[in-house]
Amino acid sequence: MRKKIAIVGAGVGGLATAARLASKGYQVEVFEKLSRCGGRAHIIEDRGFKFDTGPSFVLMPGFFKEVFDYCNQDINAYLNLKILDIHYKIFYPDGDVFTVYRDGQRTKEEIERFEPGGAKQYDKFIKETSLFYKAVEPLLYKCFRPWQLCHPVYWGLIPKLKIFNSYWDIAKKYFKSEKLCYALTFEAMFIGVSPFKTPAFYSIVTYADHIQKIFHPLGGMYKIPLALERMAEKFGARILYNSEVSRINTKKNKLLLSLDNGESAADYVVANADYAYAQNNLLLRRLPKFKYSCSVFLLYLGLKRKVEELEHHNLFFARDLRRNLKNIFDDKIISDDFSFYIHVPTRTDSSLAPEGKEILYVLIPVSNLEGFKQDFREYQDMLRGIVFKALKEKFGLNLEDLIEVEHRFYPEDFIKRYNIKFGATFGLAHTFMQSAFFRPPNIDQKIRGLYYVGASTQPGGGLPPVIASSRIVADLITRQDF
Ligand SMILES: Cc1cc2nc3c(=O)[nH]c(=O)nc-3n(C[C@H](O)[C@H](O)[C@H](O)COP(=O)(O)OP(=O)(O)OC[C@H]3O[C@@H](n4cnc5c(N)ncnc54)[C@H](O)[C@@H]3O)c2cc1C
Repeated sequence: MRKKIAIVGAGVGGLATAARLASKGYQVEVFEKLSRCGGRAHIIEDRGFKFDTGPSFVLMPGFFKEVFDYCNQDINAYLNLKILDIHYKIFYPDGDVFTVYRDGQRTKEEIERFEPGGAKQYDKFIKETSLFYKAVEPLLYKCFRPWQLCHPVYWGLIPKLKIFNSYWDIAKKYFKSEKLCYALTFEAMFIGVSPFKTPAFYSIVTYADHIQKIFHPLGGMYKIPLALERMAEKFGARILYNSEVSRINTKKNKLLLSLDNGESAADYVVANADYAYAQNNLLLRRLPKFKYSCSVFLLYLGLKRKVEELEHHNLFFARDLRRNLKNIFDDKIISDDFSFYIHVPTRTDSSLAPEGKEILYVLIPVSNLEGFKQDFREYQDMLRGIVFKALKEKFGLNLEDLIEVEHRFYPEDFIKRYNIKFGATFGLAHTFMQSAFFRPPNIDQKIRGLYYVGASTQPGGGLPPVIASSRIVADLITRQDF
C-alpha cells in the first residue's frame, strides 16, 4: 500500500514537497487553512489589479529549475521567467541615484561614478562572494545537526565562511564609499536582518543578484505557487483548502492531525506552517530563545496611470541607515527616517493591471511584534505620508490623486493570516547561531516521521532556500523507503 504523507500548509515549501513526494508515488494530502495556495507568496485581486503580496524578486533560478527537474517536468511548461535589464535603482536621500544593471559593465560604470577605482574593487568583492557561494551552495541541500560541525569533513568550512565577519565587513573591505557598501549589502533585508549583524556568507545573496541576475515570472509572482500546485496535483496530490490543523499527535505507528471536522492519520507529516508556531501551537512545546527577523508594513496601490519615473524595483534609503536598522532590530520603535522599497511589476508585466494603469507595492521594514510596545496602526498614516512625500519631492508625483485601489498589510496580519510567530515576516532571523548547523533541522528530534519545510528551518528563508528545504525533506523521506 502507498504510504501517506500529510503536509500542513500550502506555502511554496509545502507545495514543492507535495509535488516531489507525489511524483515519487506517495499518497499526498496538503491541509491549508486559507482558501488559496501560496502562503506568504499570496495575491490580492481587485478591479483588474493583481497585487503579488509577498516576494517580488526571483533570484537563483537554478533552485526553481531543480524542483521541476526532480519531478521530471520542464520548468518552461509552467513558468516564464523573464530576466530584468535594469535590476534596481537605489535612491539616496541626498538625491544620488545608483543603478544595478543586468550588464555588469554598466554596473561597474555606476560604481566608478561613486568611487574612482571602484570597478576593480567590485571584481574582487564579487570574487570573494563567489567563493562563499561555492562553499555554501552544496550545503543548502543538506540537513545538519550542530554536532556534525565536529566532523573533520566540515572543518575546512570554518575559515572559508569567515564566521567572525559580518556581511557589511565584506563590502567595507573593498569600498570606502558607505553608499556603495549599503548598495552591496542591502540584500540582507531580503532575509529580514541587518547587514551589520548577519554573517559574511549571506553575501551569497549579493552574488546571486549581480551574477546570476534577477528574474520576473510573467503573469506575476503568484504564478510560482500556482505552478507548484499544478505540478503536485498532476501527480495526484490532494490539496484541501480551508482546512486548519490544530494539533499534531502520535498514535501507535501513525501521526495524527486534528482538524475542525475530525482527524487525519498519516505515515509521515511535513509541517510547512512557520516552525516556531508549529512547535508552540501544534506540538505544545516550549520555544527556545529564538531570534526573529523583522516585520514589514505593506501598501498595495493600484494607480490610474503609469508612473514612468520608477523602475521595476526601487529602493529608497533612510538618511541615517544605521539608526534605521537599530530602530528596527534593537530599539523596536517606529521613526520618521526609514528605508523603503517600491515594486512596480507593471513596468515589466502589463498583464497585472488594466491597460494603462500601474501597480505600486510599497514595503517598509519595521520591527517584529516581540516586545513591540507601540500601537502600529497609530503610525501607519505617518509612514504612508512620508513615502508619498518622498515621491512628490523626487518626482513631483501626487500619489493621492492617482490611487484607484488601495490595500494595506500590517505586521499583525502575518500572525492572523499565516500564523507567523511575532509577525516576523521572514521567520527566524539569519544570525550565525540560527544558520546552517544551528538552524532548526528538517527532521523532528523526538517524533519519528515528523519533518519541517520552509523559511524557518534549514537552509533558510527566501524562495530558493525554501525550495531547497523541500528537497531535503523529500530526500530524508524517500531514503527511508526506497
Ligand atoms: C513581503 C515579503 C517579501 C518577500 N520578498 C521575497 C523576495 O523578493 N524573494 C524571495 O525569494 N523571498 C521573499 N520573501 C520570502 C518568501 O516569500 C518566503 O520565504 C516563502 O514564501 C516562505 O514560504 P514557506 O513555505 O516557508 O511558508 P509560508 O508561505 O508561510 O507557508 C505556510 C503555509 O502554512 C499555512 N498554515 C499555517 N498554519 C497552518 C495550520 N495550522 N493549518 C493549515 N495551514 C497552516 C499558511 O496559511 C501558509 O499558507 C518575501 C516574503 C514576504 C512576506
